Amino acid sequence: MSYDLLVMKFGGTNMQDSRAIRHSASLAARSVRVGVKVVVVVSAMAGVTNQLLKLADAAQSGDIAAANDEIALMRTRHFTAAQELGAAPDSVTVREIREMHETLRQAVYGVYLLRELTPRSRDLIVAFGERLSAPLMSLALEQDGLRAHHLSGGEAGILTDSHFGNAKPMPNTYERVKDRLSGLLSAGVTPVVAGFMGETEKGAITTLGRGGTDFSATIVGKALGADEVWAWKDVDGVMSADPRVVKDAQNIEVLSYGEVMELAYFGAKVLHPLAVTPLQESGIPLRVKSAADPDFPGTLVQAQPRDEDGHPVKAVTAIRNVSIINVSGAGVLGIPEVIASVFDAIARENVTLLMVSQSSSMSNVSLAVQTVDAERTLAALRAGVSLELKVEEQPGVAVLAIVGSGMRGQKGVSARMFTALADQDVNVLMISQGSSELNVSVAVEAAHVDAATLAVHRAFGLGAATA
Ligand code: ADP
Ligand code: ASP
Ligand code: MG
Repeated sequence: MSYDLLVMKFGGTNMQDSRAIRHSASLAARSVRVGVKVVVVVSAMAGVTNQLLKLADAAQSGDIAAANDEIALMRTRHFTAAQELGAAPDSVTVREIREMHETLRQAVYGVYLLRELTPRSRDLIVAFGERLSAPLMSLALEQDGLRAHHLSGGEAGILTDSHFGNAKPMPNTYERVKDRLSGLLSAGVTPVVAGFMGETEKGAITTLGRGGTDFSATIVGKALGADEVWAWKDVDGVMSADPRVVKDAQNIEVLSYGEVMELAYFGAKVLHPLAVTPLQESGIPLRVKSAADPDFPGTLVQAQPRDEDGHPVKAVTAIRNVSIINVSGAGVLGIPEVIASVFDAIARENVTLLMVSQSSSMSNVSLAVQTVDAERTLAALRAGVSLELKVEEQPGVAVLAIVGSGMRGQKGVSARMFTALADQDVNVLMISQGSSELNVSVAVEAAHVDAATLAVHRAFGLGAATA
């Protein structure tokens, strides 16, 4: 197949050191050389985003020494990569990295002085990971004989709302990205966009949520009407389970946008949960590809699912660190206002609900939320619902989900899952099935989640031996 325009996203592992960056650049260059226009979107070097979050917290708590130590480690990593990629000490790249590190150091010092880390300052700090990767990729592309130009997310036209930490693109983003990148492409220059980040109308830097570089790439893909978006990864593609948990997990050849969204929502870290949303309208395909094995087709994500007989389920996934919040009391019984007040309180806090179940006979509503959101949820509920109701947290939970469009209208799928869980002595705490019938999810005790994942994966014949 011949392409006119591709967006290629390189993840943290693909950017982790000079060798990985050089290899990633060669993957983009391979296409450019045969006449394809390529936009490259890059993540921070593996581990850098976590380091930035950690050092921002250290500065806020007053430990500036720890924050500076961390910055120094990162700085060495960026300079080493630049040098190994052939940058001279007085080159533009080295100067740019030095300046960015200086600004980062000042921002972190500001947090330390104020002992205050707002979501806005956290985004400013954490986006440096991607901003520092972009010049390294530009340099590697140039070393490979291409002309390249790097831009921050905002410079590339990505305009977002001001939900710092979890921002969403504004509708005019697409026009802006097209305006800013088309000229470069037609001049034969490969744009390199810092992923994960955008900016607000007022110019404040925002981030798109963890794993957000996937989202940046699909935003750019939609804006330019790309033929396809390729997300290069350290795995073969989207697999039937997290390969770190299930050793015989298999690559899935084709998934629909809907299936991928369910998988990502229920914890498959391989793609950002909203990554496919920009592609849905225009039907642009997304490919998840292995950088280590570039000719392997990986996973094709498209509008239509492809179902195989006898395999109603395509993947098993899990979210760890979940809490169940129970709202109970005689007052819940059959009174819609009570339910409304529960959801109202949740909506105000902008908490993501993983599962909801109501049992009227038990006068109880249960909500599954990420444990990091539990305290906020509890406080909002205690303030927002009637005093007669008891609101309690049950921590130490995980949510396990099976995903596949083939389960639509099929009988016995849930039964197969519950039998597998029962055989492992896994107690099910909550159950939910979406009306889209793309998934069934259950809450289980966190301690059992790996055993449960393995058992369910096996029960649906997803492993190597039976696939
Ligand atoms: P990148 O930086 O390239 O976006 P990530 O670390 O965010 O890479 O995502 C890839 C990782 O996602 C894999 O290394 C793998 O451990 C994990 N993962 C979890 N579930 C799945 C799955 N179902 N298929 C593939 N990878 C998965
Ligand atoms: N570097 C960011 C993260 O770790 C974004 C990404 O990798 O997609 O979440
Ligand atoms: Mg990722």
